[in-house]
Amino acid sequence: MAFLTKTFYSQEDLVRHLKAHHPSFYFSSKTSTVIPYDKLESLLPWKGAGDFYLCDLSKLPPKMELRPNGNLVLQGGVSWEDAKKFLRSKGRNLKTSPTEQLALITAGIATSCTGERCFAFGNIRSQVTRLKYLDFNGEERELTRDQEFKTKSSHLKDYQRDFSAYKDFKNAPYPRFEKAIDLMIGTEGQLGIVTEVEIETTDNTDVTYVFMLLPKWEVDYAPHLEIFNAVQGHRNEIISCELLDANCMNYLKADEKLGENQDVIFLEVKTESFEDIYGNLLSHLSLTSAENVFEIAENKFHHIRAGVPRAIFEVNSQMGVVKVGTDVQVGPDRFKDLLDYYRSASRMGVRYCLFGHFGDAHLHFNYMPSKDESARCQDELLRLYQEVYEWHGSPFAEHGIGLIKQKYIKKFHGKTQLGLFQDLKKEHDPHNQFFPQGFMSVER
Ligand SMILES: Cc1cc2nc3c(=O)[nH]c(=O)nc-3n(C[C@H](O)[C@H](O)[C@H](O)COP(=O)(O)OP(=O)(O)OC[C@H]3O[C@@H](n4cnc5c(N)ncnc54)[C@H](O)[C@@H]3O)c2cc1C
Repeated sequence: MAFLTKTFYSQEDLVRHLKAHHPSFYFSSKTSTVIPYDKLESLLPWKGAGDFYLCDLSKLPPKMELRPNGNLVLQGGVSWEDAKKFLRSKGRNLKTSPTEQLALITAGIATSCTGERCFAFGNIRSQVTRLKYLDFNGEERELTRDQEFKTKSSHLKDYQRDFSAYKDFKNAPYPRFEKAIDLMIGTEGQLGIVTEVEIETTDNTDVTYVFMLLPKWEVDYAPHLEIFNAVQGHRNEIISCELLDANCMNYLKADEKLGENQDVIFLEVKTESFEDIYGNLLSHLSLTSAENVFEIAENKFHHIRAGVPRAIFEVNSQMGVVKVGTDVQVGPDRFKDLLDYYRSASRMGVRYCLFGHFGDAHLHFNYMPSKDESARCQDELLRLYQEVYEWHGSPFAEHGIGLIKQKYIKKFHGKTQLGLFQDLKKEHDPHNQFFPQGFMSVER
């Protein structure tokens, strides 16, 4: 048995490969934080006979078209960055804005990716109107959001009932399976290959970015919670609300750092609403002075915001450890509990930082352990997932499960979820050729 790498330059090549039913892992831009690409061959266990294929989809010919109804139709290797440029040249913009703009949109469907603009526009599931995918025989199939999800499985009804407890989260501990398009959304390439997507877009409204300097959350998070509560009623005017804590600044260059050992909350505000937001929200904060509110250029914000998780990834690679970070979203009533948990986790004596989609109560707490500290940090996160389970929160709200998070998700998948996964794999992947080591197939 060997691992073989294949790159596809046309859909016809890909169809030929699918028809042969080779067991394969298909990837796009390789930005997933839950797939350890630098250690893939050792962490992608494969006991089957024959070769295993690592399949690169990023070179599939890119194509974009803006439809008269404002929807974007795209195929192949189109990244979020490409789509944003294309749309802006036509007076439109994306409703989803993952921090990593180099990721491909077709892959973003597979991971049910979210991101900064989710605060105003909701999750990607609500923005996909139609998609096409290649099935296990290489046949192209089309799904729309007007069709209901269909399966022969007897588990669907109970599964949907369980899912409803998580309907307000960006992503639940398991995919939605309510509309036909859900077959490909959040199933991480385990049931087919996404080839074409139609998504809603929005007007390219002028936006103003501001940031606020706050005390460190470990010492006093009252100002943070005041902002969190204040922004909730302004999702029409505020497009995103992000946090980088003071520890994140250690991973930026000297001229990029903001504040003096302070946390930073950023707001992306529609320029036409900025005066209202300033007058009715920012100037009314009792715990953050207007003197601590500053404007920042859009490109500088994106550069700094994306620079932190990228730097963390590099630090972990240099230390030779797999990322030990969280992707937890909780309901607004549990946000304080989450911050309290992170406060206690920060006292382990291991380097850490906190950042993320603050307005949605969705934060990434990252340890930067040495090799010796790594196991201890992973155990600590097991304690967190127990809490998240009790809080009815979402353990992995945007990055998915991949390989790295499988051991943590077990508690969230009961008989109903595992039963439906098994039935869907049989129905849509009878030769076990799509990511056979994924969360839908893992034995528990
Ligand atoms: C700095 C940084 C910031 C990030 N910020 C965000 C964020 O704000 N929001 C967010 O959601 N994620 C974020 N991520 C995670 C990552 O960017 C997303 O998970 C993204 O969707 C992965 O896209 P990719 O092209 O890199 O996919 P890959 O890593 O190549 O693949 C990811 C998964 O999708 C499957 N897949 C890929 N292409 C297809 C396809 N065409 N059909 C079916 N399955 C496929 C693969 O099998 C794999 O399971 C961030 C990552 C980094 C490094």
